[in-house]
Amino acid sequence: MEACLEALNSQSKASIDSIAGSRQTSQDDLLICISDIFKNLQSFSGSSFDKIFSRLAWMQNSTVLKNPFIEKALNLGMISIVLCEVVGLIPMAGNDTIEKLQNDVLKHFQIIALTLQNSSKQKQQQLLRKLLQSIEGFLGNLRIYLGLCASACRNLSPGVVLTIFTVIEMLSIFQQIPFELAYIGIANLRKEAQILTKICFFPSVQSFFTFRQAPFLPAYSHKTMTLVLDLDETLGHTENGIFYKRPGVEEFISELDKFYELVLFTASSQDYADSAIKQIDPSNKIKLRLYRQHTGAFNSPYVKNLELLGRDLSKVIIIDDWPTSFSMHPNNGILISPFTGDESDNELKKLLPVLVNLAVSDVEDVREALKCHIKL
Ligand SMILES: [Mg+2]
Repeated sequence: MEACLEALNSQSKASIDSIAGSRQTSQDDLLICISDIFKNLQSFSGSSFDKIFSRLAWMQNSTVLKNPFIEKALNLGMISIVLCEVVGLIPMAGNDTIEKLQNDVLKHFQIIALTLQNSSKQKQQQLLRKLLQSIEGFLGNLRIYLGLCASACRNLSPGVVLTIFTVIEMLSIFQQIPFELAYIGIANLRKEAQILTKICFFPSVQSFFTFRQAPFLPAYSHKTMTLVLDLDETLGHTENGIFYKRPGVEEFISELDKFYELVLFTASSQDYADSAIKQIDPSNKIKLRLYRQHTGAFNSPYVKNLELLGRDLSKVIIIDDWPTSFSMHPNNGILISPFTGDESDNELKKLLPVLVNLAVSDVEDVREALKCHIKL
């Protein structure tokens, strides 16, 4: 581990700023970034967390990170940082505990750095297994600690107890969601944890996973084009409480993830949409989700205002079965026929090559391209 740290410190001669913003990255760039994260982790101050998050987001989106082991390792590392910080926001957290948790997080990043430096897939897998074990131990410690805090609730304000329970609930969610959603959840929790400790009602944990106001997508994106997908009757259909997947939906999502930043934008409720998405996108290719509470414009409750995304609209396409949904931006929309359970439906299969072509042809403005040749 020490050798690893030394190697990282020698990397730090290069400036992190010289690589930030670059889309083309190398393995060395990643090591520079990890080295910078180490430095910030060692000081563990509020401003250092902002830097850590931006570095992690950058790494997550970097072009060389096509390695599932490293990607998973980074997600886990980020989660451990965040949990550690959130514990620090609980007013009664003891310094010893915080220090112990911070040391655990540093260890996780040492393993991540080793994973990055190792080109053997087998070795990377071993390291990831080690990291998982280490993080499981960390989460165990954290749960015990939070449980102790909560059981000492006579000395705590109700708001602090509620905050602890919120964090415990988030713990279980963090491990199952994509990096981007965790990132948003964390950003919200960091901003609101102090306020939470002063309120006396239990907030919906799910509500943490979207930004509170537009633009709803995080500023960074590693893909030039954004594909906005409707849920009901576009990707699937619900009847008598059962969700039916549209034929070809899994392939549609996993193929298009290679070319587009995928966003779900549904007029349905968040709980329902999240459970449906688990069925059609188990590996979390759709990174960001907007729900009923984000729709509404032009005196129509379910219109989807694409400007809320915070993306360049010349690179945004929306697929929806209801034209009113994209009536604010008709030239960004592709209307798909509604799916109501027909097993022979092949609309997604037909649409897939069209969308791939659009992405690879690097069109300057999708609105012009869609106007010219696509009206399905
Ligand atoms: Mg629909």
